[in-house]
Amino acid sequence: MNICGACFLIVSLGMALFCCGLQVSHSQSSTLPRIGDSSAKLEQELVAKYGVEQRVRVRRGLQQVAAFWISRDGSEEEFESFVRANFAGDPQTLGVMFNRFETLLEKLDGHMQEIGREFRAQADLDIGPILPFDEVFAAYDPSAHLADDFFGNKLAFTVLLNFPLTTLEQRLTEGERWSRRQWAEARLAERFSKRVPAEVNQAIAQATAEAEQYISQYNIWAHHLITSEGRRLFPPGLRLLSHWNLRDQIKADYSEPRDALARQRTIQQVMERIVTQTIPAGAINNPRVDWNPFSNEVKPAASADTDMPALSGSEINRAPEPNTRYAVLLNTYLARKRLDPYSPTAPTLIARRFNEDRELPEARVKAMLEQIVSSPLVPRVAKLIESRLGRPLEPFDVWYAGFRPRGAYTEEQLDRRVAGRYPTAEAYRKDMPNLLMQLGFSSDRAAYLAANIVVDPARGSGHAMGASMRGEKAHLRTRVGESGMNYKGFNIAVHELGHNAEQVLSLNDIDHWLLQGVPNTAFTEALAFVFQGRDLELLGLSKPDPKTRAMAALDDFWGAYEISGVALVDMAVWHWMYDHPGATPAQLKEATIEAAKECWNKYYAAVFKNRDVVLLGIYSQMIDSSLYLPDYPIGHMIAAQVEEQMQKTGRIGPEFERMARLGRIAPDLWMKEAAGRNVSPDALLDAAQKAIAEAVP
Ligand SMILES: [Zn+2]
Repeated sequence: MNICGACFLIVSLGMALFCCGLQVSHSQSSTLPRIGDSSAKLEQELVAKYGVEQRVRVRRGLQQVAAFWISRDGSEEEFESFVRANFAGDPQTLGVMFNRFETLLEKLDGHMQEIGREFRAQADLDIGPILPFDEVFAAYDPSAHLADDFFGNKLAFTVLLNFPLTTLEQRLTEGERWSRRQWAEARLAERFSKRVPAEVNQAIAQATAEAEQYISQYNIWAHHLITSEGRRLFPPGLRLLSHWNLRDQIKADYSEPRDALARQRTIQQVMERIVTQTIPAGAINNPRVDWNPFSNEVKPAASADTDMPALSGSEINRAPEPNTRYAVLLNTYLARKRLDPYSPTAPTLIARRFNEDRELPEARVKAMLEQIVSSPLVPRVAKLIESRLGRPLEPFDVWYAGFRPRGAYTEEQLDRRVAGRYPTAEAYRKDMPNLLMQLGFSSDRAAYLAANIVVDPARGSGHAMGASMRGEKAHLRTRVGESGMNYKGFNIAVHELGHNAEQVLSLNDIDHWLLQGVPNTAFTEALAFVFQGRDLELLGLSKPDPKTRAMAALDDFWGAYEISGVALVDMAVWHWMYDHPGATPAQLKEATIEAAKECWNKYYAAVFKNRDVVLLGIYSQMIDSSLYLPDYPIGHMIAAQVEEQMQKTGRIGPEFERMARLGRIAPDLWMKEAAGRNVSPDALLDAAQKAIAEAVP
């Protein structure tokens, strides 16, 4: 299973209009000093006016407004008159207020999304050259100041005065008994749960951009890697971006007829040098030198694969990279930490990631990841890999790719079939109702879905862009070459169709617009995988046999085993940074190496018969994405649960519709309604268990 990066981005952009906003703490010095007195007086006054049954709401509303009110919002008198004018003291008024906010925020988000989509069209679509100003349009965010505006005009305070801010614990414990309207109210208030000063957001954006820049330039020129025996193993021009291309090269080399092992060991050595920062600075993104990562010797390049001349010996920087990797990470931590005082209910980046973005408590996520990495299935699958490889495991085999199912058809056969069916994007569009009916949607529903999806020619490989207001259509972007669509393109287009179907249903067929969507990005990916996993059947070919399916389940399990460890290291490192706010880059490096080794020794060493390996610290997202990595293993679990439910019922269309209408409630509640139990790794582990039996008869 591949989590599609592009889709994550599109989805999060769509939902993030306000998420990057707002928060002020109780301790903010510019809060009016005597609002406490005002609040007590106002509470009495409003309770006398609306009845004692409003006391809880009154008190909560006053607290929520006072927590965010700063001197530029007005004097104490203005605070009092604002509260008197805007407290909805009876259910009818409150209902009118709720409906109005829901209706108008839908228009706001919907049109903002529409502007964003149109401004990006020239950059995203294959419709002619991108001129310099097109990039400015594409980068412009018309909603950037909405959060400030809504505090400025006090609409944010109207919401805070009348609707409850909730903690994750409340959403999890009380949420099960909430009505849909209560959930929608919680989502409404949540939009205004932060009021972050612009300079803090600016600092975070700056640190993130610098980290992304550092990562995006971190290439290793593979032709210039020299083995212990002085050999060159990789072809000229091969530039591997860390860590993605390095890892994928290890995976690809399992089918390399010669030199597989030597290549994989070399890349592993490179990765270890990056994590430990013993890589010579002059070997990074530099085709003008040759580097032996074992001896760590750097020399002028003896073979040219670019038009840049080799460096002379004296020009080469042989000093180790000066802990830049960890200086960059530390910088993102320090920037993120500046937001803490404005986020009293989630006062660390760790809490914001788990309690707000994922809505899964960290302790539970940690326990689920540990359940995967310590599963008794691990040594059994490891043994199977060893027997398939015919050798003992080496550390880089955490990226073993030999379970990838080959399938009954060659890529050429599939390409021919797809190109014949879809010579143009228009042909794919016309066939969408048919594809949806094959997936079990009724003809009416298939026609309805297809009518709400626009197909555009993509510049890149493809993505799905949902709408944010009813009546607007979802967009499916697909790439069709001169000779028609190829199989890879079709596979992606089916994945994106899954996204689009979810987007249309979870927006248009849902009871409350405020609950539109799914709990988090892992869910939309899981639903897209349901479509993607049936692409061969959609081409009228026989579906994968049990053996092929078993191989896919084992591949998925091994991937989850690997990425769960990576996520645990990411979590440990963020805790360490919070525990050591004054740390130096060198200290952070030592701590990261320690965390990577500790995780390896605990969950991998016994299987790999090798201790103190640091490979789990190589992921680039650890440096530039601030605790995003746990989303990947969570995605694996959720996808397995959704797929298990689909297989159990065998009715994809109606099940898909039912799930898509659950909306953005807490992940556990969603999964309980969708598949009968909380988010858990059980389905993933069950599938692997069955697959082992299938693979080892
Ligand atoms: Zn996707």
